[in-house]
Amino acid sequence: MFIAGEHTGSRREQTTIVSPADGNPVDSVPQAADGDVDRAVEAAAQAFHRWRDTPASRRAEVLRRGAHRVLAHRDELGRLLTAEHGKTLREAGLEIHRFVSTLEHCAGLARDRRGSHVPELDHNTYGLVVRRPLGVVAAIVAWNFPTLLLANKLGPALIAGNTVVAKPAPTTPLTTLRIAELLHDAGLPPGVLNVICGGAESGEALVAHDAVRKVAFTGTTATGARVATRAGASVKRVVLELSGSDPFIVCEDADLDAAASAASVGRFFNAGQSCLAVKRVYCVAEALDTFLERLLARVRRLKVGPPTMAGTILGPVHTSELRSRLEQQLADGVDSGGEVVAGGGRPVDEALNAGWYFEPTVLRDPAHDCRLATEEVLGPVLPVWSVANLEEAIEHANVSPFGLGSSIWTRDLDAATHAAGRLEAGYTWVNAPQRLYDELPLGGIGASGYGKEHGREALEEYSELKSLVVRHRSPGRTR
Ligand code: NAD
Repeated sequence: MFIAGEHTGSRREQTTIVSPADGNPVDSVPQAADGDVDRAVEAAAQAFHRWRDTPASRRAEVLRRGAHRVLAHRDELGRLLTAEHGKTLREAGLEIHRFVSTLEHCAGLARDRRGSHVPELDHNTYGLVVRRPLGVVAAIVAWNFPTLLLANKLGPALIAGNTVVAKPAPTTPLTTLRIAELLHDAGLPPGVLNVICGGAESGEALVAHDAVRKVAFTGTTATGARVATRAGASVKRVVLELSGSDPFIVCEDADLDAAASAASVGRFFNAGQSCLAVKRVYCVAEALDTFLERLLARVRRLKVGPPTMAGTILGPVHTSELRSRLEQQLADGVDSGGEVVAGGGRPVDEALNAGWYFEPTVLRDPAHDCRLATEEVLGPVLPVWSVANLEEAIEHANVSPFGLGSSIWTRDLDAATHAAGRLEAGYTWVNAPQRLYDELPLGGIGASGYGKEHGREALEEYSELKSLVVRHRSPGRTR
């Protein structure tokens, strides 16, 4: 673990981190015991006052230096991320770049913070609304983008003047630990960022700790609800970035080539294990055959293989449990009447037997209430439904309890505007691939959570407002 600027062990047993590509051990890390969580939170609480009082421009400078240092180590970090996660080296490299650009974006916001002034509240009295940091932030993240999800919390939290205790997922702590060390080497003072390892137990202890003032959580809806309940018991602020099942609507007049390309990348990037991803396609019947033909041409070119091998597009799924769940969800879709039109199982290549590989799979017209439609699908399986028109597509899209992302593909501006207004999601892409921008707030609605990351709105999530009333003497009056 990394506490108060130093690597530290624990009196608890070590956990082995296993490569999803071949089941071999990569490294081992300690599990945080209660005392370790206390030490990490205390280190963050002690560092808070000095960090808060550091000018924001200086905090930004430290963050920028940290980002540069991470960038200088991108190859080493990328290899580590691939080893513990299973994503390809290319995907790992892209993720490290995202980490860097999010930190740089947040550093750029440091000079743009504002409060407000309310003149003449009363005789010789004005008001100010000022923003203050919260204190210690707990950043608890999922395994699918370990470093990007950390940056989404770390950047705004640190720029706003808070200190952080991060808890990566139990299967992906290694890159986070190395990044904490690099940021520290670049000048981040001891205690400003601490990293503890472990699973639910460490997470619960962190959420319950009295000195933690905010919990920034990314994970499943079920865990998020539990975290919110626990945090609520001690009146902590919470941001919840939870599960998703993004609909992708294709109308008959859409650019079908561009839509097929966006659906393929949007579903199969990161071996289909993204929160924001194309998870349910609703295509108007008139366009379905052409759309599918173009989609399948792309899907057949996606090469499954070891994540370190040149040319691999899809690495393994992260754990064997995730692959089993995916297989059950697919079987349920087939039982409900769906037709597999690409992939459908584990690759036949024996060289891949030791890892958790799965073919990129497309399923046509399963039942609308099968598990592929009602649950989140984390893995390379894409159901495609034929619908009569846009209205029917929107109806199916909105049945899901999740509300993270959504897409609409049409050349008709009125139809696009109508759909964008009706789709129940925190993000809608219109004729554009599902790409995230640091400039735009990201966050779900419904079962996908609440609160925002990215955008200048993220800074507001990590500060609180205080009102000041100032009475002064009239000019010329003396005591
Ligand atoms: P998870 O809920 O199992 O775990 C997430 C984190 O919470 C881990 O660090 C875990 O150790 C910790 N945790 C588990 N139980 C806890 C508890 N009781 N108290 C405190 N912490 C606890 O989720 P996961 O399987 O790691 O992540 C996958 C999920 O994350 C998917 O649903 C995915 O869609 C979602 N996700 C959402 C976003 C987003 O921006 N909305 C981004 C990435 C991933």
